[in-house]
Amino acid sequence: MSFKDNVDLYVEQSAKLLKFSDDLIDHIKSTHSLIKVNVGVEIDKKIHNFTGWRAVHSEHILPSKGGMRYSINVDQDDTEALASLMTYKCAIVDIPFGGSKGGLKINPKNYTEQQLRLITKAFATKLINKGFISPAINVPAPDVGTSEKEMDWIKDTYKSLRPEDINYRGCVTGKPIHSGGINGRKEATGRGIEEVIRELFRHKDVVKETKLKNELKDNSIVIQGFGNVGSNLAEHLYNRDNAKIIAIGESNGYLYNKNGININSLNKFYKKNKTIKNKKLGKFYNQPNELIELECDILIPAALENAITIKNVKKIKTKIIIEAANGPVSFEADKELNKRGIMILPDIYVNAGGVVVSYFEWVKNISHIRFGRVEKRFQERKILDLINLIDQKTNTKTNPEVISKIVHGANEEDLAYSGLEDSMRNAFNEILEIKKRIKRSFRESTYYLSLQKIRKFYTSDGFPKR
Ligand code: NAD
Repeated sequence: MSFKDNVDLYVEQSAKLLKFSDDLIDHIKSTHSLIKVNVGVEIDKKIHNFTGWRAVHSEHILPSKGGMRYSINVDQDDTEALASLMTYKCAIVDIPFGGSKGGLKINPKNYTEQQLRLITKAFATKLINKGFISPAINVPAPDVGTSEKEMDWIKDTYKSLRPEDINYRGCVTGKPIHSGGINGRKEATGRGIEEVIRELFRHKDVVKETKLKNELKDNSIVIQGFGNVGSNLAEHLYNRDNAKIIAIGESNGYLYNKNGININSLNKFYKKNKTIKNKKLGKFYNQPNELIELECDILIPAALENAITIKNVKKIKTKIIIEAANGPVSFEADKELNKRGIMILPDIYVNAGGVVVSYFEWVKNISHIRFGRVEKRFQERKILDLINLIDQKTNTKTNPEVISKIVHGANEEDLAYSGLEDSMRNAFNEILEIKKRIKRSFRESTYYLSLQKIRKFYTSDGFPKR
């Protein structure tokens, strides 16, 4: 079964609960437009050919939004599957975007930075000229194998092709700050997942249902993948929640420490050496696939799709799975895990923090002003006025050190994180309400909520409804 088939089965499952007609379900599942391009780039006096795709799953709200993946495993089916996940994801967190995704079949590690720049610019030129990238229609972001660097190159390409577009910076998100990026975007997906976990632990009935220990810090955590999502999540959990992360996996193996890995030391080591193989921080095992089978309380796949399939599902020994990656559990494995009472918080909700903060970045770009720029000092003055008033009325004098701690107007990162937390917590509660009402799994309830929201845009007399 392909990745797209898997996603479609999840959609069908919940659409039937909502009593959607078969033709409506077919329409919702379908990719609305798709482009395949071949890009030729001269490298070392030889033309190298690269194949890429950009899929638009939905455009009921524009622009359509979704990451750009660079991997040798990229293909059309995966791109369509990932684009469809974006549609459902944006609906869950009330982000006014359609769903899209793109990818280039390439192993970026085989090319220099200069070569990657040329390849990215050639790829972006094709997509822009065919109407598959623009601030109003379709906005990429980083995904596996790409980062703010690639986004910056795409933005530069767009700017040179469309200099008259005053909103050119909004043609991609996840850019460097100096190029119109937003503080907090790089960490947003990981931080958003931390908010999901925090919200889970505020619901003691759910914690009890999953048989987790009452406090987050008392549960053992295993994370697969130490890329953008995995490393930022681990850092937040370790520093803000005192979490015990007993194992971290990468494609060459995994690091294990039953007392918990020191994530700050690992991050420092990884940045320098590009590997998690550090014998001082734990024991390193060369079998990457065994990580997912480790006994733990919370399992977080944060690498790639199909980490848990019918082949290894019986070996899973966790209480809850939190899907940080897109599509890490196959449909059949999901059924088996449900039978065993292992709760799964699904990708279309869990990793939505990235697109939430991307939305803030896009709004910043088209409104041409940094969040907090206008009101920060005003807020500070108001808090100071209040302290002075209290001092006056109570005939006291607040310590200047205390004042400097309290008087803090919200800056861009504060506001982005506040909006992120609000989005993740609201969605959790909306899903939980549905779960209690329909008495189905967390995933079925999440798709149910998403489809319920999307349905409003689909009509029998043409799509999209304008
Ligand atoms: P990334 O490229 O930064 O990191 C992926 C990591 O997974 C790499 O470190 C890689 O070495 C590792 N990996 C690959 N194969 C592995 C294996 N078999 N076992 C263990 N580790 C393996 O990518 P990312 O941005 O962190 O994305 C990870 C997942 O999260 C993907 O599914 C992506 O679609 C999803 N996601 C990312 C974002 C985002 O903002 N970056 C947002 C939403 C969802």
